[in-house]
Parts: sequence; structure tokens; C-alpha cells
Amino acid sequence: MDEPSTRGSRQHPEKLADASLVVALGRPERLPDAPVNPAVTLTSTYVATPGGAAPGDRVYARWDNPSWNGFEDALGSLEGGDARLFASGLAAVAAVLAQVPHGGTIVVPRHAYSGTLGLARSLEAAGALAVRAVDIADTEATLQALDGAHLLWIETPTNPMLEVADLDALVAGARNRGLLVALDNTFATPLGLRPLEHGVDVVVHSVTKYLSGHSDVVLGATVTPPTPRGEALCEALHAHRTLYGAIPGPFEAWLALRGLRTLEVRLTRAVANAQELAQRLSGHPAVTRVRYPGLASDPGHALARKYLRHFGAIISIEVVGGAEEAERVCSAVRLWVPATSLGGVESTLERRRRQAAESPTVPEGLIRLSVGIEDIEDLWDDLRSALDLCVS
Ligand SMILES: *Cc1c(COP(=O)(O)O)cnc(C)c1O
Repeated sequence: MDEPSTRGSRQHPEKLADASLVVALGRPERLPDAPVNPAVTLTSTYVATPGGAAPGDRVYARWDNPSWNGFEDALGSLEGGDARLFASGLAAVAAVLAQVPHGGTIVVPRHAYSGTLGLARSLEAAGALAVRAVDIADTEATLQALDGAHLLWIETPTNPMLEVADLDALVAGARNRGLLVALDNTFATPLGLRPLEHGVDVVVHSVTKYLSGHSDVVLGATVTPPTPRGEALCEALHAHRTLYGAIPGPFEAWLALRGLRTLEVRLTRAVANAQELAQRLSGHPAVTRVRYPGLASDPGHALARKYLRHFGAIISIEVVGGAEEAERVCSAVRLWVPATSLGGVESTLERRRRQAAESPTVPEGLIRLSVGIEDIEDLWDDLRSALDLCVS
């Protein structure tokens, strides 16, 4: 698709480290007196080109807004493709699922994000597609489920069970059978995984989470590779966004780019906190199970080492006494915030099955911890005191 001329150039060589890229990408052109940050452009329409609209013209603000371009350029460069911002992560998921031919079959992890599964199931109920739910960590079973299907949806690690997929084996199997491959990269972020380098056709993000990072905005994104097939898909996703009106607000896009500036420092701290907490939680008498791919004992550890550049900042635990005790822990914390969602600077925790939409195969007492950037000792003291209640 023709890019408007004011879309920022990819002026930064790929050899820069991630910590530099997230700061440098998506800036306005470096001219005397130019601002260092993009503007929030509040407009619904654009002055027409004399003689009629030429391809690439913005025309109307449901089609394009320069406020989106800084974030799209930055995320696209980080992932190695072309990014499009959406009104929410689920709007981006919906745009990708809409690429499946009517009546087609999709293969989805049974522990994919509950909203993704919920949307897939509602499309199935409407007769638009058929859903095959798989254990994405069971490579053989997933490969078998691909026969006759149209789309493979990958989440790695999954939310909230933290299963890790054998990405290359799954992509190869999907390619051989002609499937489209989508990967929800919300947990790993482009700093942990670059799915396009593994042959994935489209990356999906809930920008709401780590990319924005402050729990103050709801946004989503897709990223497609710079190949003819990828460009056609990008155009279809852009058209879907325009026609369904799933567009981001200009200020939300600005907030997302500001959040992205600190992605590397936030993630580095949050992942270090999570690794330490996972180890300490494993030794707490109230904790019966810790799921965290960074633990050597975790079933996903070997694949996480192979594919992910960090082990993430999400930990799932189970406590003695099940659901009731888990709720007690969530109510007893004072620094941690009992809340859904994840990926913010503040640490949050939630018993996932309190959500009716969560998969019944997630244990009733499972608590998902989204580890933030607070002081590790403060986080541990608060969590340990809450957990102590289960064994006192
Ligand atoms: C939150 C989330 C989504 C949905 O994103 P929204 O921005 O809430 O619409 C999709 N996938 C994963 C893994 C998520 O955590």
C-alpha cells in the first residue's frame, strides 16, 4: 500500500540495540525547530488533492491519521514488518480471523487469551468458521489438527497457563499444508520474539499491555512481513480496520508511543523481578505449583530458551486450599493490585477463573501474577504476607 509522505522514514539502522530502537523510532523528521514527538492530530478529514484523490491520499480520518504513524513505524521496525494500529487487541484479532474464508477451520490453543477464544467460538456459533482447540505445547497433536484447516493461531507462552510452543515445527507444518499462521506476541513483545523471522504471516498485539505499559490505554496492532503475500494481507487488514471502523484514537496512539519509549527498561526490570519471585514462590509452603518458563523445572523451559529472548513477567501459581484460598490471597495484598489485565508498571494479580470466560481447563485456584517494576523486596514482602495466611 502506498504510504503517505509524512509517514516517518525507517532511518535507523537495524544494528541498533532494542533499548536504543524503542527510544529512537517513530520520531518526526529531524528538521530545525521540528518537535521531537509526533503531534496529536485531531481531524476527521483532510484537504483534497487538486484534480481528485490520488492513491496514498489520506482523504478521511477513518482511513488514516498521522497520529498513528509514529507508533506503527516503530512497532513495524521492531518486528521487521508493516504495523497497523487497531482500537483494541481484540479488534486486531477480529481483523485477522476475518481473513479466514467463510466456513473455514481455525486451530487455536485451548489456553489462548479468553477473548480470542470467545470471539472464535461466537463466530463458530454463527456458522462463520469451525474451531479446533489444541494443546499448543503438544506439537504432534497440533500438527495433526492442521489437516484441512485454514488458520493456525499461536500464543507462546499462553495466557494464563504459560505453555510454550515449538514455533518452527508448527510453522513448518502449517506452511506444508498451506495454512495462514498468526501469532499473538502480546506476552513476549518484539523484544522477546520476532515471529516474522520464523515465517509467521501475521503478528497480533494487545498494545494495551507491555507496549503501552501503564494500564491507561486500550489498543491493538497487527504486523505483516514485507513480502508480496504480507503486503496483500496488510492491505486486507487495513481495509478491515477502515470498513469496520476499528480505529485507534489519536491521543491513545500518542500514549502508546510514549509508553514504547520505556519498553526495554520496564521489561528488563519486570522480567528480573519475575525470575526472582518465581524462585521464591517455589519455596513457599502455601504454593503448590509455579508456572514460569524461566524456571529450569518448568515444562516449557527448554523451548522458551530456544525461542524467547526473555522469560516474560507473567507467573501463574496455585495455592493450597484452591479457589477460596486463592481469593483470600488476592484480597490480602496491599501493594499488588487485585485486577485483571497485565503488562503495566504496577504489579497485578487475579484468580483467573473468577472470569466466567476463562477456560474450564485452567485450575480453579490458579492466580496469574503480572509482575511490575516495583522494588523486588516490597513485592515479595506483600505477596509472602498474603500467602502466609493460607498456611497459618
Ligand atoms: C489482553 C489480551 C488480548 C486482547 O487485547 P485488548 O487490548 O484487551 O483488546 C489479546 N491477547 C492477549 C494475549 C492479551 O493478553
